[in-house]
Formats: sequence, C-alpha cells, structure tokens
Amino acid sequence: MKKIALLGATGSIGTSTIDVVTSYPDLFQIISLTFHSNIEEGSILIEKLNPQYVGVGSKEMEIELSQRFPNIAFGVGEVGLIKAATLDTVDVVLTAVSGSVGLKPTMAAIEAGKDIALANKETLVMAGKWVIEAAIKNNVNILPVDSEHSAIFQCLEGQKKDNLKELMITASGGSFRDLSREDLKSVTLEQALKHPNWSMGKKITIDSSTMMNKGLEVIEAHWLFGVDYDKIKVVLHKESIVHSMIVLKDGAYLAQLGASDMREPIQYALTYPTRLPIKKEKEFDLTQIGQLNFEAMDFERFPMLKLAFTVGKKGGAYPTVYNAANEIAAAAFINEQISYLQIEQLVQRAVENYTETTEVTLAQVIEIDKKTRTIVERWIKEEGRL
Ligand code: NAD
Ligand code: MG
Repeated sequence: MKKIALLGATGSIGTSTIDVVTSYPDLFQIISLTFHSNIEEGSILIEKLNPQYVGVGSKEMEIELSQRFPNIAFGVGEVGLIKAATLDTVDVVLTAVSGSVGLKPTMAAIEAGKDIALANKETLVMAGKWVIEAAIKNNVNILPVDSEHSAIFQCLEGQKKDNLKELMITASGGSFRDLSREDLKSVTLEQALKHPNWSMGKKITIDSSTMMNKGLEVIEAHWLFGVDYDKIKVVLHKESIVHSMIVLKDGAYLAQLGASDMREPIQYALTYPTRLPIKKEKEFDLTQIGQLNFEAMDFERFPMLKLAFTVGKKGGAYPTVYNAANEIAAAAFINEQISYLQIEQLVQRAVENYTETTEVTLAQVIEIDKKTRTIVERWIKEEGRL
C-alpha cells in the first residue's frame, strides 16, 4: 500500500490523481490532502477519501471543517501544507498545487525523506538547484508528473547518460498558436482559456498560450535530468500525441506517445517501475489520429520561450524572477487587470530589472521571489490595463 500526501487535491491534477488512486484502492491510500479555497469540493473529497490530515487556505475554513469532521486534524496555509507533506505515515507527496507556494512543503517533504511525484514545476524553476541537492542528500526520488518530463523519463530508462545527444520537448502551441503577434493585441481571457488539447487549471492554460509553460518546462527538464540548456530543444507538435523525445548520439530518436490524459503520467509516477492498466472511455488509436506534425519553434513569435533559455543559462535567481513575475502577471490577466500582451512585457521587464551577478543562497532566492512579486504588483497598479 502506497501512502500518499496530495497537495492541491481540488485542482485539475488533484482530480486526476484521485481518479488514479481510487481505481486501485488496494494499492493507494490518501493519508493527507490540501486545498486552498473550494470548501464544498474539499468537503466532498474529505468524505470520499477519509484522510488523517487536511491543509486548508484559511482559519475560517479550518473552524468550519473541524466541526464537520471532528476526527480529522486540520492546518492552515503554509503550516498545513508542510504538515500534510511530512506526516510520518506518508511515503510519497504528489505536489499538485499551482505556483511557487509548492516550494516549502516540497523541501520539507524531501528533508523528511518522502519521495516526490512532481507536478508543481514552478518549484523546480524557482529553486531547482536546492531542491535537487536536497533530494540527492536525502536519497529521495523525484518522479515527474508533467507529461513531457514523464515521457523523457520513460525514454531515458535503460539508457547510459553518455548516449544522450539531446532532449526534445514537444509543445502543443497553446490556445493562440495560429495567431500572429499582431492578432494577440486584442485577444480575450475567454479565448486564452480554451486550450486545444488539454483541460487544465487556469494558470497553466494561460502559461501554455504565452509559451511560458514550455519555458518553465525547459528549466524543469534541466534540473530533473541534469542536462545543459544547449542540449534541450523544443519542437511544435500540435497533436500532443508525442509527449516528448530523446535523441541519442547515433541519431536515433526515442519517443513516448499516448492520449492527452494526465492520469497516465500521474499513475506511472506512483507505480514506477510497475505499469498497471488504466480504464479509459476510449482506447488510444493511432490510426484514428492518422498524422503527426512537427514544426520548428518560432522564438520571435514566442519570446517567453527564448527568455527561458536566457534566464536558465544565467542561472542563480534569474529563473526565480522569470517565474515570480509570470505568476503575478498571469494572475492579473486572469483577474482581467491587464491585457494579454502585458504578461510578456511584465516578465521581460522584471528579468531586465534584475541585475544580480553573485551567487545566491536559497534564503536569498525566497527573498528575490517575494521582491519580484511586489515590484510587478506595483507596476500593474501604476500602469493598469494597457
Ligand atoms: P489548478 O489550478 O487546477 O489547481 C491548483 C490546486 O492548488 C488547487 O487544489 C488549489 O486549491 C491549490 N492552490 C492554489 N493556490 C494555492 C495556495 N496559494 N496555497 C495552497 N494551495 C493552493 O492547477 P493544475 O492545473 O492542477 O496544476 C497544478 C500544478 O501542476 C501546476 O504547477 C501545473 O503547472 C502542474 N501541471 C499541471 C498539468 C495539468 O494538466 N493540469 C500538467 C502538468 C503540470
Ligand atoms: Mg507539460
């Protein structure tokens, strides 16, 4: 029986994880879970999964839920997330919160010796160096949940590291892949939230359209697989069937293919190296898909992808700034405080505004993350919607 802490249980990844877990009740048990604000949905999950511990977003939620579920322990905010992730009985923490709020509980879980099934890519972008160092030191596994990274992880199985020439991450292109930069001036939130292939949380859907998501994934891949940025390539693949590839020295390509169904990488992260069937409404059938297309990525069309390589190569807290600025800008766009192209402008400006060149510590990285958020929030307040 694998005992799981699920951070971000009410989200898109959280819901798919619960699907996987409840389909194998003899193999998995949710020991603890967290959710931020949706108390109705959260209560349904508590009833369904009967966890020992629940982390919630506010004191009011804690009071209300403690009355309804007197046998369950509750905690609030960061304390709740950390406690949920570090309970003695937990074996693996599935990090499905959105944003860099995932960093502290992930670090705490690693220090407590828990394996990590990592969906929350922002954590690795913000502080990859420290997360990976801690994982090595504490001998814990970080198993990718992100579909591209799960694909690469699967392709790398059994390969000698020096056989690898490069990683090739596929990108669907997001909601605006067929629009020009000129067209982007007038796009709406509603249009941005319509992803052609995947149904996901709001932030990652916006990030997919700006190609910020792919930028975050490039940095995530660098840390997960220890591969230099020069050896990470991105290719546009509109079907999202090839989840990603590796290229070997002799020119051979290995790819992992499948449906756009996050239950597959989630389950593999939880059962690795075992594989188990997944019940599907419709079988994956390549003959129904017929054609797969690949195109070169246009870095001028998608400047956030180009910027990911720049900040990644600069290292230090540059990726932290890139991520923090985007979290604020994407949230402001979702709240309709700024227009679409302002997301990119704010991220670009925050990165240009950051000029540190010295080595940074984890404590400084956390400070820089906070400071970047404050600065970008101020810019948004001063300038408003342009
Ligand atoms: P979502 O918005 O659907 O869900 C986010 C979850 O985090 C919710 O349970 C919410 O209650 C919780 N949360 C939000 N803000 C919080 C806060 N401040 N403190 C504590 N909890 C908070 O997001 P999602 O689409 O499920 O994505 C979750 C993570 O997984 C992200 O890092 C995303 O990049 C990554 N990911 C998602 C997908 C996908 O298909 N959705 C694929 C790959 C990676
Ligand atoms: Mg992905």
